[in-house]
Amino acid sequence: MYSFSSSLLETSSIVAGSSELVIVSREGWHALPPVEVDPMPNPVPYVIIHHSYIPPACSTTPGCIEAMQFMQDLHMNTNGWNDIGYSFAVGGDGKAYTGRGWSAVGAHAPLYNNRSIGICVIGDWREELPPENQLETVHNLIQLGVDSGYIRPDYILHGHRQVRVNTECPGDRLFEEIKTWPHFSSDVDAFYNDTLKKSAFTIDIESRKAWHARTPIEVEPMPNPVPYVIIHHSYRPPACNTTSECIEAMQFMQNLHMDTNGWNDVGYSFAVGGDGKAYTGRGWSTVGAHAPLYNNRSIGICVIGDWRKELPPENQLKTVHDLIQLGVNNSYIRPDYILHGHRQVRPTECPGDRLFEEIKTWPHFSNDVKVYYNGTTKPKS
Ligand SMILES: [Zn+2]
Ligand SMILES: [Zn+2]
Repeated sequence: MYSFSSSLLETSSIVAGSSELVIVSREGWHALPPVEVDPMPNPVPYVIIHHSYIPPACSTTPGCIEAMQFMQDLHMNTNGWNDIGYSFAVGGDGKAYTGRGWSAVGAHAPLYNNRSIGICVIGDWREELPPENQLETVHNLIQLGVDSGYIRPDYILHGHRQVRVNTECPGDRLFEEIKTWPHFSSDVDAFYNDTLKKSAFTIDIESRKAWHARTPIEVEPMPNPVPYVIIHHSYRPPACNTTSECIEAMQFMQNLHMDTNGWNDVGYSFAVGGDGKAYTGRGWSTVGAHAPLYNNRSIGICVIGDWRKELPPENQLKTVHDLIQLGVNNSYIRPDYILHGHRQVRPTECPGDRLFEEIKTWPHFSNDVKVYYNGTTKPKS
């Protein structure tokens, strides 16, 4: 579908249907090297649209190069970031300028940086619409990302203001415009998220608000999809059978983890109660505190109760299965994820003998533990 009509160091020119997409490399705008690069898994599920506000619109290539340098300087030297924040910026000259590119975590939309392409439409678009050629380049760039496997074909498009409070970005007029674009969604699926695609599931996920969670002290974003699911039991508190008991159990665990252990929040990604509901802990996209060495690449699910001798009730186990499946369907968990019990990755009897026997029969359970808590690391395969 695309043919490279030139592939110079500085720009690549790609014919996309009837129009040509010119992508200026970092060398092409004389970018400073980034301080650090954090790789981002592709394809990403989100595209976030920004305007620059300052610098104003640029209509010539030298003007747009200057705008790129201005933004990089602002982001690195004033904001203290590793690089210019955006994945790409698009100028009024109709060219796309490479910022962090397709596969590096950006700094443009907290909680979305590790799973989105952030595109800045250079200019102040509060009252005016960007020119036709600039908008066409944004469309072509997104399409190239989809066709090249950097962006999911079913991606969701948002304006910056939808995922962050206190910003008017990408400007009122441009925001009205992108509302008409394919894949725009007014349904915002934020991190502690209450509005997941439920598809065929009838799973009840209780938000943090529903169990009156305290605010976390700090939130560390975790890249999705993660390769591991780790199963725990709570041991204490014991099993809860009603929603009010399960809410109490959540609060008990959060207080224990924050006040006694000194952690930022309840340690688990989710907990599942005997009422058949899943309770949001740190959620899908935040590093947990439940299994050292796995916290930044796993979803930790606590099956509330003491499961050394007894098996959790059917509905509680079903919710654990559904929760994992939901995570896979929404790209928070890799389709080829590995499931472990806590005891496999740390010396502990968690998740209890009886529950551990049970999860050995579950899909994706593996005896083959890659990273040991004792510090011995097997080569990753
Ligand atoms: Zn923005
Ligand atoms: Zn555990």
